[in-house]
Amino acid sequence: MPTLSRPIYLDYNATTPVDPRVLDAMLPWFTEQFGNAASRTHLYGWEAADAVSDARKQVAKLIGAGEKEIVFTSGATESNNLALKGAFETLGATRRHIITVATEHKAILDTCQHLEDLGAEVTYLLPASDGLIMPQQVQEAMRPDTLLVSVMYANNEIGVIQPIAGIGQLCRAAGVLFHTDATQAVGKIPISVDKSYIDLLSLTAHKLYGPKGIGALYVRKGVKLTAQQDGGRHERGHRSGTLNVPGIVGLAKACQLAAGTMQEEANHLAQLRDSLENGILNALPDIQINGNREKRLPQTTNISFGRVDGEELLMAFNRIAVSNGSACTSASVEPSFVLKALGVPDDLAYASVRFSLGRFTSNEDIEVAIQHVKEVVERLRKQYSLEVG
Ligand SMILES: *Cc1c(COP(=O)(O)O)cnc(C)c1O
Repeated sequence: MPTLSRPIYLDYNATTPVDPRVLDAMLPWFTEQFGNAASRTHLYGWEAADAVSDARKQVAKLIGAGEKEIVFTSGATESNNLALKGAFETLGATRRHIITVATEHKAILDTCQHLEDLGAEVTYLLPASDGLIMPQQVQEAMRPDTLLVSVMYANNEIGVIQPIAGIGQLCRAAGVLFHTDATQAVGKIPISVDKSYIDLLSLTAHKLYGPKGIGALYVRKGVKLTAQQDGGRHERGHRSGTLNVPGIVGLAKACQLAAGTMQEEANHLAQLRDSLENGILNALPDIQINGNREKRLPQTTNISFGRVDGEELLMAFNRIAVSNGSACTSASVEPSFVLKALGVPDDLAYASVRFSLGRFTSNEDIEVAIQHVKEVVERLRKQYSLEVG
């Protein structure tokens, strides 16, 4: 059978491979040590409960939390739902106003939409053209009945890092809950829930070299949430359902590895990302980098290519696996709503590519990617100028 060479993976913001060390840590918990962490009557249950307890400490440590403040979930989507719906169901009778940002992940925006149907009023802040919002915007949107502010730590499409501590500080002063979807930031940059005045924080394992289907919600001590799933009252009543012990062990191992190498890995990835960016900028005219280039995750760049057909562009990249962050439906390909919120014109938004690098990206991968992007864009631009005239 001929071996098809697989494209170079540059879509780490969509998901990461499981680190082999994470897999090793998980394996025994599928087979010999398969107990239910809620079984109190025998060794199988006890050892699973111990593993979960150790894991909880490990996850908490990465964000400066206490172990009792970690609720395991199925991932960031569930964590976001639990944070927003759980807070609204608890306090929504008197506080109906929520503040969020137009460039949030759909797991926040669709949850807000759902709450609007239930009577919530939601303010969607618009970021500046570099993707950043200012704490002052949050301050100005505050009302006496504001329940919660939800601002993502770092954007999944453009990588910009919001001024979380500044926003948290003014939420705390106003007595308003502060939630952050930190899915893209956890394990990539240092996070302290205390220093940033965070009350609720969502994270997921599969964006930091852990398995899919496991995540956590940090819930500050004293914050009341209504559970969104009823049953055996696991996770101190926040989230019923038998714990995913292998997943939890994997998430913890991924957090431990991230804590050990974060700074080193960030420097390395920023270097690779910058050489990719500079390589493309030097090779091709009419290129635009989207989002603030300073306050940005080290592994992400989002680039618009002028004078090409956006739909053809992604199809033509067959040696690299990248994305455009756009929502594809069977009927149409919409340009990224994040880029549109930044004021990027439609034709450029269509012809935008997110490159996201990770732990297993090599120098050679970047060299091949630059050359491939150059060839593809030059070819498409020749076609484009013939078509457009
Ligand atoms: C990936 C992602 C999510 C969804 O996480 P799941 O664990 O897949 O549910 C939510 N928010 C952001 C910012 C993400 O990047």
